[in-house]
Amino acid sequence: MGIADNLNQVKHSIEQACGDAGRPVDAVELVAVSKVHPTENIIPALEAGQRVCGENRVQEAQSKWPALRNDYPDVQLHLIGGLQTNKVKEAVALFDVIETVDRPKLARALVKEMDKQQKTLGVYLQINTGEEEQKGGCLPAEADDFIRLCVEELQMNVLGLMCIPPADEEPSLHFAFLRELAKRHGLTKLSMGMSGDFETAIRFGATSVRVGTAVFGDRPKKL
Ligand SMILES: *Cc1c(COP(=O)(O)O)cnc(C)c1O
Repeated sequence: MGIADNLNQVKHSIEQACGDAGRPVDAVELVAVSKVHPTENIIPALEAGQRVCGENRVQEAQSKWPALRNDYPDVQLHLIGGLQTNKVKEAVALFDVIETVDRPKLARALVKEMDKQQKTLGVYLQINTGEEEQKGGCLPAEADDFIRLCVEELQMNVLGLMCIPPADEEPSLHFAFLRELAKRHGLTKLSMGMSGDFETAIRFGATSVRVGTAVFGDRPKKL
């Protein structure tokens, strides 16, 4: 099956999951995760009307997206991978939304750079719900303070919260935790759910799902 067919199938599953959860069929945004896939695989998705895409590395996105944006200027590009402070300048210039804001130092650097570039990006605050060492994200114990810092003190355009549950755990608990944390802070958007669990995430209130494999196929293995 081609990429356009995959995309349609994923969109259909999203609508179905919304319906099953008693939510409007358009309650959930699809972020098509095109990381690792070459431009020629991304074009069919854009031609089929997909307008929100996700990349996890600044450098890779820089090599693919300026050209694609020329042809599809209304694309919304989300950074879904960890961001080093030394890449903040490039990230602010290229992306529309950064989903991985997870520490005060990064938040402050982003605010400063957005000010400099006169550009306001939407951000999600990433929460490391599984407290995994190898993963980015603010630890749950520090989340209340971090959210307050970004929303109140730094006045960032905080759209909501984002998480990536541990691969080997039932994701529902993590989704439920993120939902409650967002609710407590009056945040309305939840970026959660990937190819394997987006239907569950939608049941738990996801407003945005990040789907790669189910749209673009398996990612080529790194050598
Ligand atoms: C790769 C990635 C995804 C997409 O994963 P799939 O399982 O291929 O759908 C979603 N979110 C993040 C943060 C990712 O890095």
